[in-house]
Amino acid sequence: MTSAQHRGCKVDGCGRSHRSRGYCRMHYKRWQNGTDLNAPPRVVEVVHRESCTVENCNNKHQARGFCHVHYARWNRTGSPMGKGPLPRSEVVRLRRLVGVPDDGPTPEMCKEWEYAEGVAA
Ligand SMILES: [Zn+2]
Ligand SMILES: [Zn+2]
Repeated sequence: MTSAQHRGCKVDGCGRSHRSRGYCRMHYKRWQNGTDLNAPPRVVEVVHRESCTVENCNNKHQARGFCHVHYARWNRTGSPMGKGPLPRSEVVRLRRLVGVPDDGPTPEMCKEWEYAEGVAA
C-alpha cells in the first residue's frame, strides 16, 4: 500500500504520521538532537497510566491521567466531571473578571443581555 499521498514518517517501520522534514514528531526531535533515529522509542507515561483516573471510568488513558472524554472535559471546564458547580471562590473570581457583582448578575444586567442576544422582544 504505497501512495504518493501517504505522508507518514520516512523512518522504516515507524508508521507515525508526518510532522516535519519527512519525520514524525519523535523522529524529527531525534533528527534535531542528533539522536539515533532507529533507537527503540522511549516509552512514555502511558506505562503507568493505562486507564483514566476518573472513578468508574475504564477508558484508555489519553493525557493528564484522563481518557479522551474526560481530558476534553477537563480542558474545557477545568474539571474532568464537567458539570457540577464551581467552587464559590472561582465563581466570584470569574464574576469579577466580567464585572458582575459577587452575588451574580442583577435583573437589569440579565435584561440587558437578553436584549443584546435578541432574546427579548
Ligand atoms: Zn517516525
Ligand atoms: Zn475517563
